[in-house]
Amino acid sequence: MPEQLTTAEQQLRDTCQSFANDVLLAADTSDPIAARTQVREASQAMGLFSLTQPSEFGGRDSANRQLSLCIARETLAAANPPLLDAVFGSSPGVLGGVEEPLRSSHLVPLINGDKRASFGFTEPDNVQPTSGRLTAEGLVINGQKSYVTGGADADFISALVHIEDRGPSMVVIDTHLQGVDLAQRFNSLDGSHHAAFTFSNVLVPETHIIGDAGKGLPRALRQIGDVRLLVAAQASGYMLWVLNLLKEHLAARDKNGEPRGSKDVVRWHYADLRVQAYAARSMLYRTARLADSGANAVNESMATKIFVTEAVGNAVDIAIQLVGGQALVEDHPLAQLYQKVRAWRLVEGANDVLRLNIGRGILELDKGRI
Ligand SMILES: Cc1cc2nc3c(=O)[nH]c(=O)nc-3n(C[C@H](O)[C@H](O)[C@H](O)COP(=O)(O)OP(=O)(O)OC[C@H]3O[C@@H](n4cnc5c(N)ncnc54)[C@H](O)[C@@H]3O)c2cc1C
Repeated sequence: MPEQLTTAEQQLRDTCQSFANDVLLAADTSDPIAARTQVREASQAMGLFSLTQPSEFGGRDSANRQLSLCIARETLAAANPPLLDAVFGSSPGVLGGVEEPLRSSHLVPLINGDKRASFGFTEPDNVQPTSGRLTAEGLVINGQKSYVTGGADADFISALVHIEDRGPSMVVIDTHLQGVDLAQRFNSLDGSHHAAFTFSNVLVPETHIIGDAGKGLPRALRQIGDVRLLVAAQASGYMLWVLNLLKEHLAARDKNGEPRGSKDVVRWHYADLRVQAYAARSMLYRTARLADSGANAVNESMATKIFVTEAVGNAVDIAIQLVGGQALVEDHPLAQLYQKVRAWRLVEGANDVLRLNIGRGILELDKGRI
């Protein structure tokens, strides 16, 4: 098979397929809280919940970690089920490997589900970057973050802060602290919730600096790089779902009794989507293996994220065209997917900017593979 999976990886895929069909698609979503609890318990029982967590917290630090996560996310998304975000436990994110006191105060409660975290990187245009000044009392932070997913419900934000004389650093900011102001809550087209924050002389202990001060950017970018691959995996799964839906649609007969797929132009579009899906999956699996090998896969993760997120956007768009007006009825799965996948061309770095980074990588640093 093209993905060249080991027996264990195939078993993971089979487990995810069964989980998507038997648990996610069968869930009664009329009571979302009960449904999420049910999904979480089933995911724990089947060993999927801890897939995102380090071995010291019951997860697995396997040699094929990125590939396993990609297989799981792609396979689950290929069923286009509800409650996908309830399947996996919180991953450590930028808190991975932190020492005391942050380990006990924030990392352990995060992994155990007792605290909720958000990621604060993006800032409004035309403002000074969020800055920090070390004083005898601790780190004093001023600034703004404009697009913090889940921020309104978060107990803390892992935020990029430019610390005077030290440089960009990742810092844990508890949201209940004096001076932390939830300036705005908003929802985006894909259905996710976000918040904008202002920080006015927020005092945090110096121990809330994650890792070494001044070395926050590589830590944040490593985390963003991992997430890019997972976004691509989910996008690839949705492409598979779209192709399956189209296959059934094109096998059925149209108003004149002819199979819909008998028309050349329709067939051409469908085949073209399959070409793109094949390329997308090949990139995804190759890049996940590269990342697992310990090689620098920054450029390849960016290339994969760009290609797969654009390919899924195109696939959903073409599928709507081939299915027709019914696909734009609000609760049609294609209409809903159309809204969901658009955000991916911006999240974890706008695709336009990632293209420029790939250009700089090869032209100025001689980095990147094809
Ligand atoms: C659903 C969703 C969830 C998000 N969650 C988070 C989160 O949890 N935490 C977080 O920190 N952020 C989050 N973001 C923000 C996201 O990371 C940013 O939207 C993204 O990085 C783009 O930044 P921006 O919106 O400021 O747009 P801009 O940076 O202004 O970019 C807009 C466009 O301007 C052009 N452009 C920008 N810079 C350049 C350049 N250097 N060269 C050439 N062209 C350029 C490009 O065409 C680009 O697409 C989220 C966004 C979305 C949509």
